[in-house]
Amino acid sequence: MTEVGKTLHDSLFGQKLAAGKCKNCDYPLEVHEIDFKRNRKILKCQRCGLFHYYKKDIVGKWRLQKVAKPDFQG
Ligand SMILES: [Zn+2]
Repeated sequence: MTEVGKTLHDSLFGQKLAAGKCKNCDYPLEVHEIDFKRNRKILKCQRCGLFHYYKKDIVGKWRLQKVAKPDFQG
């Protein structure tokens, strides 16, 4: 595999695997909860613990709905 091909492969593969990045600190997110019935999932930042709420749209793409702090005190 050429260097360019490898980089392309890595980026494509990485996009599939990556759950997303934290809007607050840019750290990778881990899956906290998935609701297949409602096509929703909640991801949690591995660093600051911020919750990211995703919803699947009609084309099957996950879209970020809102970001919330783990404690609801502001
Ligand atoms: Zn974070």
